[in-house]
Amino acid sequence: MLEKELMLDIQKIRKDFPILNREVNGKPLIYFDNAATSQTPQQVIDCIVDYYSRYNANIHRGVHTLSQEATDAYEEARIKIQQHFNAAKPYEMILTSGTTDSINLVANGFASLLKEGDEIIVSALEHHSNIVPWQMLCEHTGAVLKVIPMFESGQLDMETYVSLLNENTKLVFCNHVSNALGVINPIEFIIEKAHEVNAAVLIDGAQASPHIKADVQALDVDFYVASAHKICGPTGVGLCMERKLAQ
Ligand SMILES: *Cc1c(COP(=O)(O)O)cnc(C)c1O
Repeated sequence: MLEKELMLDIQKIRKDFPILNREVNGKPLIYFDNAATSQTPQQVIDCIVDYYSRYNANIHRGVHTLSQEATDAYEEARIKIQQHFNAAKPYEMILTSGTTDSINLVANGFASLLKEGDEIIVSALEHHSNIVPWQMLCEHTGAVLKVIPMFESGQLDMETYVSLLNENTKLVFCNHVSNALGVINPIEFIIEKAHEVNAAVLIDGAQASPHIKADVQALDVDFYVASAHKICGPTGVGLCMERKLAQ
């Protein structure tokens, strides 16, 4: 019934995921933890095996055939991701080891740009990995961390957010979709208001990327980050879309 309503051929989709042939506790595996880590389809597994079986080599370094092929494959992947998120240039798409790594990359980049009295705004709805780097950055630079509060409904309080913004605000961080509640945050509004005071915005797209195709140019976002292991990709790969600073 559900399958019919959703117009999804669930048996066909399950066939793409070899792990679902497993039994756990004597029962066929039904996996509900995709928001934390999605399972890996055979197509992705084949691609990884093909890489290690045929052209595994150091990218951007060697002049030999394998290195050239590995570099080409790496750059093709970068272009695919660039096109998916509609980034203007391939070099705006930085491959990292995951969302946490991407956030730390941006936070460390800002360490030398911030000074005492500067302000960073985060939402009350953040994943742990999107809070700790900013706390450390503030400790290191003397910047002040401010928090957008949340209503009981799980919606962020946008009126308070606007009142927190001022000429000292240098960075705003918010997730696109909350990992805790599934709330879709009004990131267009958050970005627009931050830019009015010339603050940069980092959007954590780890939970949004499996469901929402973000257009980073239309959003006019400065940084957009995500993890491959939540979008049926391999573990240990992430992305950091970095727009304004690359221009
Ligand atoms: C999973 C998640 C992260 C951390 O991602 P990693 O791949 O573990 O680095 C950060 N933010 C949100 C919203 C997440 O769901």
